[in-house]
Amino acid sequence: MKVVVDQSRCVGAGQCVLVAPEVFDQRDEDGIVVLLRENPPAELHAQAKEAAQLCPALAIEVDG
Ligand code: SF4
Repeated sequence: MKVVVDQSRCVGAGQCVLVAPEVFDQRDEDGIVVLLRENPPAELHAQAKEAAQLCPALAIEVDG
């Protein structure tokens, strides 16, 4: 699986961090998403997909 985030779309809602804290973090300054693992291991795939679905800004794409 490959995860891509578009920081220019992110509105800092933090849904991704709540759902998948091992894949996503937020910048301290402004809450913008930070991708921790571009290629998360299998056990984190479901979380990463859920984060992509929940993101209100459609800023997360998962492939695979
Ligand atoms: S859920 Fe989307 S908008 Fe919210 S912090 Fe994550 S990437 Fe940004």
